[in-house]
Amino acid sequence: MKIIDQIYIDGAFVTPHGDERFDLFNPATEQVIGSVRLADAEDARRAIAAAKRAFPAHSRSTKAERISMLQRMHAAVSAREDDLLDAIIEEYGAPVAWARWMARHASDVLLQAAKTLDSYDFVRRAGTAEVVMQPLGVAGLITPWNSDAGFICGKLAAALAAGCTAVIKPSEMSAIQTRIVTEALHDAQLPPGVVNIVTGRGETVGAEISTHPDVAKVSFTGSTAVGRSILRAASETFKRVTLELGGKSPMIVLDDANFTQAIPLALNAGFMNSGQACVAGTRILVPQARLHEFEAGIAAAIANFPAGDPRDPKTHIGPLVSRKQWDRVQRYIRIGIEEGARLVAGGEGRPTGLDAGWFVRPTVFSDVRNDMTIAREEIFGPVLSIIAYRDEAQAIAIANDTPYGLQAYVCATDVERAAAVAAQIEAGRVLVNTLTHEPAAPFGGFKQSGIGREYGTFGLEAFMEPKAVLGVL
Ligand code: NAD
Repeated sequence: MKIIDQIYIDGAFVTPHGDERFDLFNPATEQVIGSVRLADAEDARRAIAAAKRAFPAHSRSTKAERISMLQRMHAAVSAREDDLLDAIIEEYGAPVAWARWMARHASDVLLQAAKTLDSYDFVRRAGTAEVVMQPLGVAGLITPWNSDAGFICGKLAAALAAGCTAVIKPSEMSAIQTRIVTEALHDAQLPPGVVNIVTGRGETVGAEISTHPDVAKVSFTGSTAVGRSILRAASETFKRVTLELGGKSPMIVLDDANFTQAIPLALNAGFMNSGQACVAGTRILVPQARLHEFEAGIAAAIANFPAGDPRDPKTHIGPLVSRKQWDRVQRYIRIGIEEGARLVAGGEGRPTGLDAGWFVRPTVFSDVRNDMTIAREEIFGPVLSIIAYRDEAQAIAIANDTPYGLQAYVCATDVERAAAVAAQIEAGRVLVNTLTHEPAAPFGGFKQSGIGREYGTFGLEAFMEPKAVLGVL
């Protein structure tokens, strides 16, 4: 049993003022594996005050000092990679290969921010003015459970590189991972108050961060519904806001695609992170003329994507994070059937042989229309929809007919043609014949998938405000 009963404020582990206990589960066994004592609004205020005190000195630190901080943070987090890997599997249920990527990503983002900072110019010229990029102040960073360490480190890296200080509110459901990251950040010996971590509920700690007048910036990753409420709350004090929200990403399979590549690409894009990924390619758009061929290929390939014990290297899909998520995903599978979609693979219930754990059968529907609930709403589980299209123009129209616009995928033999399709897609990222990540490129959503961008120079500038000074040049 892991008992986590401290939060991190002003460079020290402290007992929270909040006294609510929250159980932590292993989603593969449904057993309680620990508990976390949650911070409350009073703790959030203390953390904000500490970050405010630390801001003047940190905002004046040199580029070299910040790069050195990020390098120390990178070394400290990578030293804990194996502990993080264990926690990600135990507390979240990510399959081992994916969990390894996640554990490494948490330290990688710190080094990438150091590289971005190294080549970044804080001062430039516009006409007769000198333009200085100035850090915003205290940044409130609110993160979800589906990649706890990666989101904490990624947001923190950009905030600190820009010269902001931070108050982080991670998800209460991933407290073990948060504790490991916090210990590593403590080992990195940052000045007190530069980083504060208060694990608590969204309605209390998250709400305090979103409304407190001393918080200049909120960077949030999570659901579109919560993002909307944060945007409303933050508007009272005109906070700068970055929102990374949900998605319903299209995977457009063009009619010249080689299905030997397209089918594994589509299943990997859809089932990544056990289907609990904002960027999952959940709407697979297939030419009507090749629909039967595609469905047969999916039905055969699904065996290569087994759900099961996350520690088994053969497992591709782990359990969902909670009973609530499992119920929600089962409900979507029922809705799909009721609305007339046809199961090509999977369905309701647990996979054969798994009697415990929040496991879902890898599920693919066909005969899906883009106006069905399963094609419109983010399911956040391994449930995919095949939607047939007549011609390229209709494929693009279907791809864009969604309130979301986070990521899209195009699969084709003719890359020039794929690039022309990509140019017409309303999404923050389009991946052509690949699932790779580019940390130097901006990441974020069009439409209701969010506001602003993370990563690289765009992500760094999201924590700064330009100031034009005239008469000095
Ligand atoms: P969530 O929106 O329920 O919670 C996210 C965070 O917000 C948690 O820390 C939560 O405690 C906090 N929160 C809840 N209510 C709040 C409030 N009123 N004020 C302030 N904070 C509040 O999301 P989740 O269930 O943890 O994560 C899944 C969602 O995250 C999915 O919709 C997914 O698409 C999205 N997501 C987006 C991205 C992206 O980069 N675009 C990445 C990962 C996940």
